[in-house]
Amino acid sequence: MAKTVRIHAPGDASALTVEDVPVDAPGAGEVRIRHMACGLNFIDVYQRDGLYPLAMPTALGMEASGVVKAVGEGVSHLSVGDRVAYASAPPGAYCEERVMPAAQVCPLPDGIGFEEGAAMMLKGLTVEYLFHRTTPLKAGDTVLFHAAAGGVGLIACQWAKSEGITLIGTAGSDEKCALALAHGATHCINYATEDFAERVKELTDGKGVDVVMDAVGKSTWEGSISCLKPLGMMISFGNASGSVDPVPLQTLAAGGSLKLTRPTLFTHIAEHETCQEMARHLFQKVESGAVKITIGQRFALEEVQQAHRALEGRETTGQTVLLP
Ligand code: NDP
Repeated sequence: MAKTVRIHAPGDASALTVEDVPVDAPGAGEVRIRHMACGLNFIDVYQRDGLYPLAMPTALGMEASGVVKAVGEGVSHLSVGDRVAYASAPPGAYCEERVMPAAQVCPLPDGIGFEEGAAMMLKGLTVEYLFHRTTPLKAGDTVLFHAAAGGVGLIACQWAKSEGITLIGTAGSDEKCALALAHGATHCINYATEDFAERVKELTDGKGVDVVMDAVGKSTWEGSISCLKPLGMMISFGNASGSVDPVPLQTLAAGGSLKLTRPTLFTHIAEHETCQEMARHLFQKVESGAVKITIGQRFALEEVQQAHRALEGRETTGQTVLLP
């Protein structure tokens, strides 16, 4: 039996329950992992509250680190005793131990701790694809990145700096802006007190930015589109403030031949080899010291309701882990 966080119906944080669930032997292509730490992500909130519907009841959690306890037939890249970390479906990472598909489970280098490993996979692989696989970006380009002091945000600030990219961040308080700046953001705008679109115009001498990376969604969409240079790329990759309303295509023409994409991590890591390659790139950034994983909050697995309330309530900064 393993303590596992589950929901029986979509709802608020009080829907989260900790239950004892049996853990089977791994089947073909699967591994059994004893978790050391589990990562908390905003996707867990969307899955819990029904924005991203799941069949009920369901376990939750998409990211964790731990030690391989058993390996199923046909798994050649992992062995019993390996330290591993992953960001992967199906949901169920908030638990002590589980069986799951092995393809997206990655060997964790000895130099990276379990808490860091659990905190960085989903958010770090997201930053990897945003900066290297979504649109061509080069040193000297300028990116607007919302919620820059959050889990994905603090990794993005450091990643941009390491690639010579100017990152204009936004965040909901002066303290959060200071944190983003300390992690390598070139500028950070407190969008609770300032009109971020106006400020971006000033900071770019009226030119606008090459790329917007917007996972805040509903509340920032209009301002974000207005910050792009002609031919700029809008990457809408989340909905922390709610889903973006349908967009008339003419908006893209009016902004100057703008491009728009709505990517997800899970299409990028669907192929085993690509996932492992992206993870090696992320590990190299962390091991080189270019990216530090900032664990802002730790909660016991049993405190999962509190952890969700803090994430939804904009009380967290950097990464958050649950400790089973
Ligand atoms: P964060 O730690 O960034 O938390 C979300 C932040 O969004 C908050 O701290 C808050 O920062 C900001 N925010 C703005 N408006 C609201 C609101 N109304 N309610 C709550 N938060 C708000 O979370 P994650 O790092 O886990 O994820 C960041 C975003 O990236 C999420 O939208 C997530 O879904 C998305 N994502 C998308 C992926 C993809 O592949 N498509 C993969 C990974 C993440 P502030 O107070 O500074 O405004």
